[in-house]
Amino acid sequence: MTTGTSATGAVDIGGTKIAVGAIDASGRVLGRADTPTSAGDGFDAAMTRIEEMLRQVSASAGIRLGGIGIGCTGPVDPLSGTIGEVEFLPGWNGANPVAKLADRFGVDVAMENDADAAALGELQWGAGRGRRHLICVTIGTGIGGGIVLNGALYRGVGGAHPEIGHHVIDDSGPQCYCGARGCWEVLASGPAIAAHARAALPADDPQRMTLTAAELCARARRGDALAQAEVARAGRYLGIGIANLISLYTPDAIVLSGSVMESADLFMPAIRAIVRSHCTQVPANRVTIDVAALGGEAPLIGAAAVWRHRYPGEMRPC
Ligand SMILES: [Zn+2]
Repeated sequence: MTTGTSATGAVDIGGTKIAVGAIDASGRVLGRADTPTSAGDGFDAAMTRIEEMLRQVSASAGIRLGGIGIGCTGPVDPLSGTIGEVEFLPGWNGANPVAKLADRFGVDVAMENDADAAALGELQWGAGRGRRHLICVTIGTGIGGGIVLNGALYRGVGGAHPEIGHHVIDDSGPQCYCGARGCWEVLASGPAIAAHARAALPADDPQRMTLTAAELCARARRGDALAQAEVARAGRYLGIGIANLISLYTPDAIVLSGSVMESADLFMPAIRAIVRSHCTQVPANRVTIDVAALGGEAPLIGAAAVWRHRYPGEMRPC
């Protein structure tokens, strides 16, 4: 092990890619590496690659790892450190990357699901800095979120992670895989927005089978009336979900991230209008709604924040 300045090791385990990094005390990425997840090669092979990458990254950056944080596509059990039944990680159910990495590196390791990791990253170093009550919503392939109350990550029964993407917006809406109809995710995630828009396109439109949410937004920017109507519809559903969160939690701030929010300027006016009209029984005018600040390395920075949130007493200046 090198003997330079201490930094936090970060591991982001996704369905297609695993990234690792070393993050300093101000949230800067000192070094990074990634590899395909190749979940089918098994958990142990992935852990070996993670260990090799973490050792390379810390050696190149001239730092030693004071601890390691993991953000992992869920469900995971953050308290035991085990991975649950994750669609994208077949055969990894019950595997424990926390115990594995703690054993190999001799440091404390903490894991949260990736939505909670993103929330902790924004809380410590991003758009949620200094907030006590914060909800981070990621709107991309699905909709997920992390809730921070009184400065601590909120956990439900048995440590369970609330699934805000499956709160019902319109129970006459499309069927969701979770069992309900009209969940937020099946109305306002990127694929949901794109699917509804594709169905509205004329039969001879060249993108009738392929249009993505990003392409829809590009069309709306060019003045395409149909695309603008679809964007307005999506903005309304995004706004209803956010308004519900504000009425339920009255947080200091809502922070929005994910691929759909790369076009946040198109959706924000509708979101703010819905919040103003729906949230009349809470001080919604004091709730800020912002786009996430951490950018492309947010998953790694969030993973480091997981460790710092779990072991705040162990951060020592070096
Ligand atoms: Zn659902």
